Amino acid sequence: MADIVLDKVSKRFPDGTTAVQDVDLEIADGEFVILVGPSGCGKSTTLNMIAGLEDISSGELRIGGERVNDKAPRDRDIAMVFQSYALYPNMSVRENMAFPLRLAKLDKAEIDRKVDEAAKVLELTTLLDRKPANLSGGQRQRVAMGRAIVRQPKAFLMDEPLSNLDAKLRVQMRTVVSKLQKQLGTTTVYVTHDQTEAMTLGDRVVIMRGGAVQQVGPPQELYDHPRNLFVAGFIGSPSMNFLHAAVQDGALRTALGDVPIGDRVRRELEGADAPRELILGIRPEHFEDADLIDDDTRRRGLEFEAPVDIVESMGSDKYVYFTVEGERASAAELEELAADAGADFSGGGANLVTRLSAESPVREGENRRVWFNLEKIHLFDPSTGRNLT
Ligand code: ATP
Repeated sequence: MADIVLDKVSKRFPDGTTAVQDVDLEIADGEFVILVGPSGCGKSTTLNMIAGLEDISSGELRIGGERVNDKAPRDRDIAMVFQSYALYPNMSVRENMAFPLRLAKLDKAEIDRKVDEAAKVLELTTLLDRKPANLSGGQRQRVAMGRAIVRQPKAFLMDEPLSNLDAKLRVQMRTVVSKLQKQLGTTTVYVTHDQTEAMTLGDRVVIMRGGAVQQVGPPQELYDHPRNLFVAGFIGSPSMNFLHAAVQDGALRTALGDVPIGDRVRRELEGADAPRELILGIRPEHFEDADLIDDDTRRRGLEFEAPVDIVESMGSDKYVYFTVEGERASAAELEELAADAGADFSGGGANLVTRLSAESPVREGENRRVWFNLEKIHLFDPSTGRNLT
């Protein structure tokens, strides 16, 4: 086992594309780290550099304390699992899993023992004599994982291993991967563009955009304290709501009413270059039907009334969409950030997504009073995207 350290690692392709820029990352021995971000953000390139499948243009990569920039992939003692299972069709499950051990010239008894052990962990014991063609997608992916774990490498690198599976199987396999990683305790770097996978799988998540790391931290920390607009919009489903907030007479004018400014943000708004407008961010679950809260809760937030567009009952709660009046954030930079983050800043009136209790009697077409928690809001500087709260 080993730790993996990226020290100012960059990748420039011959055509001039900078796919990865000055990435600093320390992955502890045994840690499960997820690289996540939109298409083209450089996550696969980063993983391929760790694997040795791509050269590093500048910076240093260390595995287990040793500089490996110039080491061939086979000498790095790591195993990769890809989206395509890359199984040998004419070999049985057992032969597929044994393949790396045969290459390593282990004796037959030891190969059998290791394959049987891995098959047990992955619940493949009864399938060892089958050919890949006679397996389901999830089973094939388990064989691919089995082939990676039999070698007991220093680290696993996984590039979107579940993205070829259907939604239900993906959820099941998420549990398999998570359990497997805990059981083996092997350092794992896992690439995905799926923020749910990122939130549920890893010890820490690395959010990338345009070749650069945006934020690194445990999933809950990224969710509660996103460093910037991009991270805020990327993590969470449905996305955080973003609204224009004009700084006026010491308060923030927003479509949901005047939002008081806390001391910390007030300090950010001092000085000649301070922003005159901010972006207010509120997650859907920080709203509640104003008829359903007690007075104590009421004091911690603000209320507004708005027409209800759509009610989606989820059983345990309701997603309720409102139209609120008010200007939207319009800076080109912001729209770009938003598009990347999957958030929507365009259009006139703001569509607000809220998650209310199942007990709320809210109906489409009516006007409803809604409360939101002021302790949970985020305020962003639209020119830099930085979270000021
Ligand atoms: P995806 O989720 O779509 O796979 P990604 O985050 O893994 O995206 P990368 O595949 O790492 O992104 O690519 C990062 C950037 O580098 C992209 O802009 C891509 O077009 C570019 N890129 C990748 N490979 C090459 C190459 N061989 N030559 C030039 N540019 C490349």
